[in-house]
Amino acid sequence: MSDGLFRLRGIRAGYGATTVLRGVDLTVPPRSVVALLGANGAGKTTLLRAASGVIGLSAGRRTFDGEDLTTATPHQLARRGICHVPEGRGVFGSLTVRENIRLQATKGSESEAFDRAVSAFPRLGERMNQLARTMSGGEQQMLALARAYIQRPRVVLLDEVSMGLAPRIVDEIFEFLRRLAAEGASLLIVEQYVQRALEVADAVYLLNKGQVSFAGEPSELDGEDLFTSYVGGS
Ligand code: ATP
Repeated sequence: MSDGLFRLRGIRAGYGATTVLRGVDLTVPPRSVVALLGANGAGKTTLLRAASGVIGLSAGRRTFDGEDLTTATPHQLARRGICHVPEGRGVFGSLTVRENIRLQATKGSESEAFDRAVSAFPRLGERMNQLARTMSGGEQQMLALARAYIQRPRVVLLDEVSMGLAPRIVDEIFEFLRRLAAEGASLLIVEQYVQRALEVADAVYLLNKGQVSFAGEPSELDGEDLFTSYVGGS
């Protein structure tokens, strides 16, 4: 079966003896943006980590395109096109933009990778020889997204991509995310700006103390659901 769906079913995961996620069901259809919202500590970052295999699952299943990937390693998941852009961006600060991109390219496809990175964010083309740590936060985020993009990802897990960035840069980044989805990727985004997330999302999940308290279209979400989720009601 090849349905392009990324599915998490009954996910339980946490850190050591601490269980954070308590039976989470979530589906990301192809060509769509799914926003994951919830209060601080609700488990959003933990869910992205569990989805990308950075932390193990103590129960539940992960499938993509009809294939069971529950026990796959992060490396195996990455090879299937499941790509995690963590909070804090994950670029190599002491390397140039060019080197950061080259590291992500497969042998022989470096020039295609550069073209793809620049097509995502043209300003990266002007900064190829700059050390990544000397770029602005927005430019570093663009580089992190471009590094994901050159892998031709099928599922992209994005943690707080707009954190600390100017509204104009956030616009540019969200425009790129829509393009990524339109090209066929499935996107799961954790986003602190609820309004932005609701504008871009096709579906929204609210996480409350490690459980899904709402799943549906942004238009179905009422203020009370949101309030309850953010104040951590029962
Ligand atoms: P925020 O919006 O504040 O980033 P979040 O919804 O992403 O919150 P998580 O970061 O997933 O929440 O954290 C969920 C719970 O797991 C919190 O209680 C947190 O303290 C705990 N936690 C997170 N990372 C670790 C870790 N490495 N070791 C132990 N506990 C952790």
